[in-house]
Amino acid sequence: MPVYVFACHECGSFELARPMAEASSRASCPTCQREARRVFTPPRLARLAPPMRRALDTEEASAHEPRVVTEKRGRPLRPHQEQVPPWVLH
Ligand SMILES: [Zn+2]
Repeated sequence: MPVYVFACHECGSFELARPMAEASSRASCPTCQREARRVFTPPRLARLAPPMRRALDTEEASAHEPRVVTEKRGRPLRPHQEQVPPWVLH
């Protein structure tokens, strides 16, 4: 389950794991029980590598506004070096 960051006006931010479908609904602060708003840019994402962050952003966006994929993206996985059979002399 993804972890989202919420901010309470009184107590500051806290993290909450919830289903992605409920990501944007409000949560109540575990300390004072007041309504807390979701923070849309969780600091923990900033520490991830850029490609990972992009993947998460895409996942997030498609949860709210599903997009139709019109083309295939990405390349087939390929080893860095050609596999050389052991019987081939260099
Ligand atoms: Zn609070």
